[in-house]
Amino acid sequence: MSSLKRFPVGPARQTNKHLFSVQSQQENNNYSLPLVGDPELSRMKRVRVVVVGAGVIGFSTAVCVAEALPICSVTLLAEKFSPDNTSDGAAGILIPTEFPDIPLVRQRQWFKDSFDHLLAISHSQHSPEAGVMLSSGRQIFKEVPDYKKPFWSELVIGFRFMTDSELKQFPDHKFGQTFTTIKCECSSYVPWLEKRFKKAGGLVQQRKVNSFQELSDSYDIIINCSGLGSRTLAGDNQLYPVRGQVLKMEAPWLQHFTRDADGMTYIYPGIHGVTIGGTRQEGDWRLQVDEGDAKSILERCTRLEPSLSKAKVLSKWVGLRPSRRNPKVERELLQLKGRRVPVVHNYGHGGCGVTLAWGTALDAVGLVRKCLQEISVQSKL
Ligand SMILES: Cc1cc2nc3c(=O)[nH]c(=O)nc-3n(C[C@H](O)[C@H](O)[C@H](O)COP(=O)(O)OP(=O)(O)OC[C@H]3O[C@@H](n4cnc5c(N)ncnc54)[C@H](O)[C@@H]3O)c2cc1C
Repeated sequence: MSSLKRFPVGPARQTNKHLFSVQSQQENNNYSLPLVGDPELSRMKRVRVVVVGAGVIGFSTAVCVAEALPICSVTLLAEKFSPDNTSDGAAGILIPTEFPDIPLVRQRQWFKDSFDHLLAISHSQHSPEAGVMLSSGRQIFKEVPDYKKPFWSELVIGFRFMTDSELKQFPDHKFGQTFTTIKCECSSYVPWLEKRFKKAGGLVQQRKVNSFQELSDSYDIIINCSGLGSRTLAGDNQLYPVRGQVLKMEAPWLQHFTRDADGMTYIYPGIHGVTIGGTRQEGDWRLQVDEGDAKSILERCTRLEPSLSKAKVLSKWVGLRPSRRNPKVERELLQLKGRRVPVVHNYGHGGCGVTLAWGTALDAVGLVRKCLQEISVQSKL
């Protein structure tokens, strides 16, 4: 652990004040006091923070808060834990997509923070246990895109366009990018984060939360990382499932990823087999494997990588991406049982939860700091 780079223990993300959306901008502009070591806060009794959700977003956020804000006692509650969450089956490749209403500079920061954090793990002795590795490959396009260089091209390693001779292997595609990114296998990474969280003093409890009200007597700040569960827990009707089915293949000879830029067909070699996919069925809540989908995935992937016809199918899996027009990384004050309780939301990452988890977790820490300042001010009144 000691060889890993930790984020600074000081006002998280102060340098990025200008990156926040309108609501968060207002919140962060007057945010300047260092909280750790603040004598006023030291006089306060420990602040009880609860994180709801044990997926990659919940555990990333819980670790960031527990490590950055020792004044907080952090408890993580969740109905389900690894290996039963969406996060566990995600291919875990770090390739961002663009969200329409979030400033690009903020999305870039989310990705950069996540990439740098996982890159440090991939270069450490923790890499096998955490399931984090470098992964090189190509993203191919059936039509030449308007923007050939995405906003993240300088954040991954060795980004370049594919040459004509490299593209010959894919006769249905006209353009391609090749680069090295990271693959983070959450079935290993989330349990590894859980250990790190407990080491930082965090508590973990299995429990379904039926409403935020239930938590308001026992906790001072609620952090909501309940993924698709936020539809009911936070009453968020903008959240919807995008069903994804994947197959795990035994094909150790495949070393490079191949992704069709439409996001429908991909081949991602990993530590425990090659994940191939996929489907993107909006509003589809089915968690059962669909054999028609499995056949279509195999056909599409074998067209890109013919040797897959010789590979053994190890398993089939379905997950529901917690999708929204934009992820919700925001703070609000809720009136719960007659008192105003700060709630920090961090959910709705769609197909990019692994790609953005650490970055949005750091943003959530900034929002928790803001809540602490308000609690501090209230305690003085
Ligand atoms: C097929 C597929 C492939 C994917 N590939 C990638 C990829 O390559 N790269 C990438 O970045 N992303 C990928 N994703 C997306 C990624 O899996 C998600 O964005 C991510 O897992 C979301 O994490 P989460 O923690 O928000 O949700 P989850 O993992 O679903 O966790 C939600 C947690 O909240 C808890 N919860 C919910 N409601 C309640 C409640 N009321 N009370 C208590 N607990 C509650 C649940 O029990 C669970 O612990 C993929 C997804 C799928 C389906």
